[in-house]
Amino acid sequence: MPTYQTIFGPVPSRRFGRSLGVDLTPMKTCCFDCVFCQLGPTRHPTLERREYVPVQTVKEEILRWRDEGGSADFATLSGSGEPTLHSGFGDVLRFLKTELPCPAVLLTNGSLLYLPEVRAAAVDANVAKLSLSAWDADSFRRVNRPHPDLDFDRSLAGMQAFRSAFAGRLWLEVFLVAGLNDAPDQVARIAELAATLAPDKIHLNTAVRPPAESTVQPVPQDRMERLADRFRPRAEVIADFSPRPGSGVAVNESAILDMLRRRPCTARQIADVFGMHVNEVAKYTGHLLRAGRIQSLPRGDQIYYEASRAGSPSAPESE
Ligand code: SF4
Repeated sequence: MPTYQTIFGPVPSRRFGRSLGVDLTPMKTCCFDCVFCQLGPTRHPTLERREYVPVQTVKEEILRWRDEGGSADFATLSGSGEPTLHSGFGDVLRFLKTELPCPAVLLTNGSLLYLPEVRAAAVDANVAKLSLSAWDADSFRRVNRPHPDLDFDRSLAGMQAFRSAFAGRLWLEVFLVAGLNDAPDQVARIAELAATLAPDKIHLNTAVRPPAESTVQPVPQDRMERLADRFRPRAEVIADFSPRPGSGVAVNESAILDMLRRRPCTARQIADVFGMHVNEVAKYTGHLLRAGRIQSLPRGDQIYYEASRAGSPSAPESE
C-alpha cells in the first residue's frame, strides 16, 4: 500500500461520498479548542499562518495518488486541524481543481475569513463548509474556546464577506451540545445568524462520537429533528445515531481491539500499525469507547487506549 504523509483515504463519508483527505497541518493545529472536537484537545490554539507542510510535497503526493489509479468523489482539505492556518491552502485548492476531476472541498471553522488573504484563497474551493455553533462572544468562548485574539463578531463578519464573494456551494455545520447551546432560544439565535450566510445546505451535528470533553453530551435524535426545523433551509441532521452491525468496521475494530488487549496505544500508534490516518482511527476508537470495549487513559500530553474488561474476547457485541 503506498504511503503518504499529507493525503489519506479515500474515507467513506455520509456527506462527501468517498472523500480523499488532504491534511495540511500537524495533529491538532487549530485556532479553536471546541468542547466537542473528536481529535482531542488543542494544547496550544494558534493564529500563526505558515506552510506547516510543504505545498510541493502535497502536490507530489496528489499526483502520485492519481497516477496510481486513485479516485474519489471529493477531495477535502481537512484532517488534523484548521486548514486555513496553512499559508498555501489556496494554492492546494487550485491544484486539486486543476489535477483531479472531483470537486475540491474546504472544511473550515471560518474564523480566519476576516483576513482578506484567507477569503481570497478560500474562494477557490468548489464547496466551502463553514461552522457556526455560537451566537455571541460568550457562547463562542464556551463552545469553541477560541484563541484569545479571535473576536466572534469579526469572524462572523468575515464569513459574511466571504459569502458575498464566493460563487461555489456554501454549506454550514452547526454542532449542538446538550445543555450548552441546544436551548430553543439559543438555537433560534444561531439560526438567525446562519441565515445571514445564505448557506446552500445546513448540517446539524451532535456529539455521537466521544468528544474532547467527557462531560459533553449529545442531543437526542428526536430533539435534533425538531431543532432542524428552526433553520432556513431546514437543517439536515447528519449525526450518525445508528449502529452499524455487520459492517467492515467491525472487522477492523476487532483487529484494533486485539492490539489494545496486548498493550495500550495512542491513536497515532494505531494509525501507524494499520496504515490509517488518525482521523480514521478516531472513528474506530469512538465506536469501541461507546460500546465500552476500550477506555482512554490520559498520560502526560498523550491519550492512550486500552481494552476494558468488557472488551475481552468473551464480551458480547454491544452493537
Ligand atoms: S472541531 Fe474543528 S475547529 Fe473545533 S477544535 Fe476541532 S479541529 Fe478545531
